[in-house]
Amino acid sequence: MSKEKTLEIDTDKIWETIDRNKTHISLSLKLCVHCTLCAESCFLYMNRGKNPIYMPSHKFINSLGRLYKQKGKIDRKGLEEIKEIAWERCVLCTRCYCPMGIDIPGMIALTRSICREQGVLPQFDEN
Ligand code: SF4
Ligand code: SF4
Repeated sequence: MSKEKTLEIDTDKIWETIDRNKTHISLSLKLCVHCTLCAESCFLYMNRGKNPIYMPSHKFINSLGRLYKQKGKIDRKGLEEIKEIAWERCVLCTRCYCPMGIDIPGMIALTRSICREQGVLPQFDEN
């Protein structure tokens, strides 16, 4: 496979995965009332000076939420940005609390799975 080929993003495949989970994703996006109550239950948010980019809702909306809104159409640069959120800003500890019942770690885990399928993953996760 050529280097150029390995850099391609299969947006149809991304959308297939999102489409299989779209009811859950779309409901979660609608349910989020941006109350920020999840923020203080995330130790990363608390330990990074309460930087909004570490808020659980921000991470979900800007990773899987972004892929959903763009119908899976994203380039490598965009997917690299999403990878950063899914690995560097969340450890899937499942401690975040949302009164609306939104499963943020589940959403981030699905985001990681989409990135992995496209070969976009952190160095430590490569075989
Ligand atoms: S607590 Fe739930 S509804 Fe409130 S901002 Fe966080 S994810 Fe959204
Ligand atoms: S699962 Fe992710 S977003 Fe939730 S508390 Fe843990 S690090 Fe924060």
